[in-house]
Amino acid sequence: MATEIIMPQLGLTMTTGTVSQWLKSNGDEVKKGDEIVEVETDKISNIVEAHADGVLQIVMQEGEEGPVKSVMGYICTTGEKINSISSFGVNVAVPAAPIATSTPLVKVNIPIADRQKSIIVIGAGPGGYITAIKAAQMGAKVTIIEKKYLGGTCLNVGCIPTKALIHVASAVELMKNKTTVLGIKVSGIDVDWTKVQQYKGGIVKTLVNGVKGLLKSNGITIMMGEGKIVDAHTVEVNDQQLTADNIILAVGSEPVMIPIPGKDLPGIIDSTGALLLDPLPKSMVIIGGGVIGIEFASLYTSMGMKCTIIEALPKILPPIDAEITAILKKDLEARGIEIWTDAPVQSIEQDGNGCKVFMKHNGEIKSVTGEKVLMCVGRRASIKGIGLEETGVELNRGKVVTDDNFQTNIPSISAIGDCNGKLMLAHVASAQGVAVVEYIMTGKHSYHPETVPSCIFIEPECASVGAQEETLKEKGIDYKVGKFQMVGNGKSLIESEGVGIIKILADAKYGQILGFHMYGPRASDIIATAAIAIRLEATTDELTSTIFAHPTVGEAIGEAALDVFGIPLSWPSKK
Ligand code: FAD
Ligand code: NAD
Repeated sequence: MATEIIMPQLGLTMTTGTVSQWLKSNGDEVKKGDEIVEVETDKISNIVEAHADGVLQIVMQEGEEGPVKSVMGYICTTGEKINSISSFGVNVAVPAAPIATSTPLVKVNIPIADRQKSIIVIGAGPGGYITAIKAAQMGAKVTIIEKKYLGGTCLNVGCIPTKALIHVASAVELMKNKTTVLGIKVSGIDVDWTKVQQYKGGIVKTLVNGVKGLLKSNGITIMMGEGKIVDAHTVEVNDQQLTADNIILAVGSEPVMIPIPGKDLPGIIDSTGALLLDPLPKSMVIIGGGVIGIEFASLYTSMGMKCTIIEALPKILPPIDAEITAILKKDLEARGIEIWTDAPVQSIEQDGNGCKVFMKHNGEIKSVTGEKVLMCVGRRASIKGIGLEETGVELNRGKVVTDDNFQTNIPSISAIGDCNGKLMLAHVASAQGVAVVEYIMTGKHSYHPETVPSCIFIEPECASVGAQEETLKEKGIDYKVGKFQMVGNGKSLIESEGVGIIKILADAKYGQILGFHMYGPRASDIIATAAIAIRLEATTDELTSTIFAHPTVGEAIGEAALDVFGIPLSWPSKK
């Protein structure tokens, strides 16, 4: 007997939902648990799974709206056919032809209106979609144009999928290498990499659907296609011209491949390729010891891969505090990662099934081999062929030049996120998106770059906010340093063998917190406290007179602050 596929109730207030996309076609064989249809409300979207094995018979078409509990389709037993049915009283003919898989686009011209500002956002990454939502909330009429995927690099091939894999790798690392000390015997650990990829894909899908739902619920017009600037107020997409008061570029970035002999050999991948490896190779040479290189080396080492990092500069992670990177490098090497610094890569050659990478080190040419080569030497703005030169938008070394309000030299065109090259981080793109909208709508904004945290998701984590010690020295600022070794923190000792350090940089006269750097457990969460301290211009006195819960990693903040004046309570005093 056929099983009904029912419009689910996705929330207390939901009364109707829309079939946004069938993930299987009419007549397809489906298995219990298969994802079959995507439904959405004005707030959220969700995927409905099959409750039985059988043959799919579709009732509600894509784009059709129906009440909660209405029948969207059936799963029939072989040979069974439901002819004309509807859950809400109307007969619906079962379509004979295959169902179209794409939703028709709503295309609108945006007039330059006096009362309601019109804004076109190009790019729907964490910069673009937050910009669009903020603009809609502030009363603008907004269209967002995206050429590839809602959520951009971050959700689809950046922050989210890497962190999903890193989460799995941490679990493997814990079970393989850290349980003995806890008194737990673990044997027969077997990683099903296909399932791991499905887990990663599921999280990405949920978040991307969330972005779509948010854009729709804020009344934003979504257009899938490549946006090209025609003039100060006009954008072309899908052979149609749209006009608006303001155009905001949020087109993001793409990986740079260094122009060396052998760069196009098979086996050379970028970060997107590194997320899709299946099966995993036994070894990988990573060109570039920046954030991407270090995160992938840490992740794949936990999965049993032999990783070799080659960095051109004298230290890995160039923008991170030198004292911290020195400790971190030793820890990575102790985990079996081979690290070459001061070693610019020269060329790559095929070597059997893998590649041989040549570098210049101490005046000599040296080589290392790997089954795959990951090239991660930075990213550049995705601005080729989108009409910027023709429109006269000022560019500098491949980035869109903007002022402090994110405006280009053409006042109606702004640029936020990776494409302006200020700092390539997802939360920076989003914060700049909010700021540019505030500026366009009110003439002022509140963007505080000094509070931008940077996090590196390795084991344990590394995070920093505010000034670097090297920068304070260069600027001649009188500062003091407070440090706390995480081995003196009970929770860190319990959770991750006390590895790591906190370093606070404070103004010598008033004790104002200028910089906070940490390598240790939960650093990516702890850093939020430090960012707030910097935003509120807090002093070491204010940190030390704040009470931190015990036993927590956060207690180490107070201790590091006490150490600025040489009076730590849980660590031998400097005095
Ligand atoms: P993007 O996310 O790149 O979005 C731009 C969008 O514009 C894309 O969807 C693109 O398709 C679209 N687009 C481009 N041109 C056009 C056009 N002409 N018309 C229409 N659409 C167009 N940052 C962090 O903060 N934390 C992390 O943990 C982190 N991990 C990362 C891991 C990896 C492997 C990578 C590669 C990056 C990571 N980043 C991380 C960086 C982060 O992904 C970027 O800083 C962030 O995505 C930038 O946001 P954006 O909106 O400026 O650009
Ligand atoms: P990066 O700029 O962080 O590092 C690139 C590294 O490659 C540098 O250290 C550089 O000196 C080195 N390099 C350049 N040419 C080389 C050569 N010929 N030989 C050897 N080494 C060479 O760039 P990335 O790691 O590609 O990351 C790109 C961006 O993505 C970064 O700006 C970063 O902010 C962002 N990202 C952030 C996170 C995070 O926040 N956790 C994670 C991943 C990526």
